[in-house]
Amino acid sequence: MFATSAAFKALARREASRNANINVRAMANLAAYEDFGKNVFTGSVADEYLKKHGASVELLKDPSWVKTAPDTVANAVFDWAIDRGVNVYCHWFQPMASSGVRHGLTGQVQNMMLKFDANNEIQKDFKGKTLIKGETDGSSYPNGGLRGTHQAGGYLAVDTSSPIFCRGDTLFIPSAFVSYYGAALDEKTPLLRANAALDKEASRLFALLGMDTSSGVQANIGLEQEIFLIPREEYYRRPDLQLTGRTIMGKNAPRGQEMCDHYMAPLSSATAALACMQEIQDECWRIGIPLKTRHREVAPNQFEFAPLYGSNTTQIDQNVMVMQIIEEVAAKHGLAALLQEKPFNDVNGSGKHNNWSIATRDGVNVLEPGDVLKATGNDDAFPVIMAAIVAAVDENGDLMRAAIASPGNDFRLGACEAPPAIVSTYLGDDMTNYLEAFMNGKSAKYEPGVKTLDLGTREVLPFQVPAEDRNRTSPFPYGGARFEFRAVGSAQNVSLVNTVLNTIAAEKFAAFAERIEAGESPGDVAREALKKHWKVIFNGDNYDEANQQMLTDRGLWRIDSGVEAIAQLTDSKNIALFEKMNVFNGEELAARQDVLHGHYIGTVEMEALTMIDMINQHVIPSVKAAGVGPLAELEASIPKLKEALSAIHAANSPLEKARLARVLRLETMIDIRDVCDSAEEVVPANLWTLATYKELLFLDSHTVTEPEYFGE
Ligand code: ADP
Ligand code: MG
Repeated sequence: MFATSAAFKALARREASRNANINVRAMANLAAYEDFGKNVFTGSVADEYLKKHGASVELLKDPSWVKTAPDTVANAVFDWAIDRGVNVYCHWFQPMASSGVRHGLTGQVQNMMLKFDANNEIQKDFKGKTLIKGETDGSSYPNGGLRGTHQAGGYLAVDTSSPIFCRGDTLFIPSAFVSYYGAALDEKTPLLRANAALDKEASRLFALLGMDTSSGVQANIGLEQEIFLIPREEYYRRPDLQLTGRTIMGKNAPRGQEMCDHYMAPLSSATAALACMQEIQDECWRIGIPLKTRHREVAPNQFEFAPLYGSNTTQIDQNVMVMQIIEEVAAKHGLAALLQEKPFNDVNGSGKHNNWSIATRDGVNVLEPGDVLKATGNDDAFPVIMAAIVAAVDENGDLMRAAIASPGNDFRLGACEAPPAIVSTYLGDDMTNYLEAFMNGKSAKYEPGVKTLDLGTREVLPFQVPAEDRNRTSPFPYGGARFEFRAVGSAQNVSLVNTVLNTIAAEKFAAFAERIEAGESPGDVAREALKKHWKVIFNGDNYDEANQQMLTDRGLWRIDSGVEAIAQLTDSKNIALFEKMNVFNGEELAARQDVLHGHYIGTVEMEALTMIDMINQHVIPSVKAAGVGPLAELEASIPKLKEALSAIHAANSPLEKARLARVLRLETMIDIRDVCDSAEEVVPANLWTLATYKELLFLDSHTVTEPEYFGE
């Protein structure tokens, strides 16, 4: 019954290789990569198995295979899976608001693809209908009132835009998760709807500008993932890191990031970090995730990975898997990976830059001026598209801010390590001058400037660089062929971020198209929009306080509090926008807002309870043992924390509770932290029972676990 005799061998091989040493890598050896990508059901891999069932990979290109040929695909997937040593499947989904809490950020129930027949022989148990749809008890996931335990059915439907893949013994079927009534209960469903809106409205506008949009239009993204890697033994000596992902107390070490000496420093083999990063990359490549880039980041023990960009659903599915793999592989190397946005005070936190562009499915990047000109022969096409995006950002900065309101970003935005919570866009001088000339009536081709750097040496020859510098302080800089949303948090599932970007762009594309269809010239529509929204363009230093005041006075969206930003989801402008673009209805927005506030409240509650335990079980006993330190103040802090928690519980609405939680976290807990840190300063090291910043932050000088040497 198995497609090939290799099937059982593959299962056996899995058994044998379970303990294989995969973290040893001497030199690049292509033989080791032969299997890479074989675990993803796309391209020639899928074609080979589909052909055995009378079809080809062409079938997968049209999502209607779900209706026309589900059994064919299921049979091919089954044969391929068994050949890969896989005999379990799951519909794999992304519950709302799991960022920073749920390991791996996803949900799944795993089922065998096999059953026993009447003769007790193993038979296949995987059909088309098994593949395309699942059902689960959805009531225990955050749902914002969209379901009760008496209305608990949740439905899982295969997302044909992101490939099925195998990892370990399991087949992962990327799926959307909705209620019995079709309400979005997950991160993916609104993103798919926003993609549909973008496809429709961008195709409509770009066609009016002379582009062939018959292949359709999609957003492409590339996500740079920052993390910390710390010694696992020390992690076990920090209840706050274990339970909340960040240190809620901890005196600064004498060394921080003063000299930026961690940034891009060698990935030394003297610590476990390099072998860990290699294995993370290997695991990713094995399931078709092109995690190309790795380097050290600015803060001590901070690292970054970046993949090659691609379509947003695939990239987001891959990014949540990257985060899971990072956590799992780190543990194997005696490390703990911290994905939270601000694990440590006074050194940089972690972000996830969301590089975003829009392209036709056959590859015209509409943020690349040369591409657009070639595809349309129309000088005005590119500035019209840019004008629509500039207008969308100016009008909907509140939604962009809401999309990055993850709890950890409370400590990052505006703290000179990430852009402030004021939404502007950097276009660079050349592009700004070009658009300004266009706004004032000049129609011309955009010629990106280049300049030559001549070092005046014989050995290093003069070379060309773009005329535009980079601006790392802007929340949303344009970088030649893409925008980079730089304020996104490291622990986030970035679906909402991309749902917002695509929806606000789609809405402006629609508004432009409507006027052009009614007879106005595209140039006039764009010029009017640029004049109205010019204020959102800012090329200066966003970290500078005087500039921040100036941008605030200009009337740009500025929402310092993440809690208030989340509340913008149900602002009437935004309900109208999302309903018009068929992305969310009002009920779904209200539910999502409650869920995000609930996520924030839960985060703060866990942090406050952890603080109480740490003070009672560690700080106070250390101070007593040492006979030094602020004992009375420490004892007085416990009732303060408890009272604040009671007040949160007593508040009426999720918004009110979240507002109180924010005060507890950013005022009360910070004051109490100061008391704890002053105790740490005076208690002798041998009596301090929590791991210190010195022990947590410097793998180079504090590797507890034997490093895994590569190149045996
Ligand atoms: P940086 O130096 O700013 O970090 P990189 O070249 O490392 O830039 O790219 C960062 C991320 O941006 C990568 O994931 C990359 O694949 C992605 N990226 C590059 N071009 C595009 C594009 N046109 N659209 C979306 N993402 C892109
Ligand atoms: Mg970068």
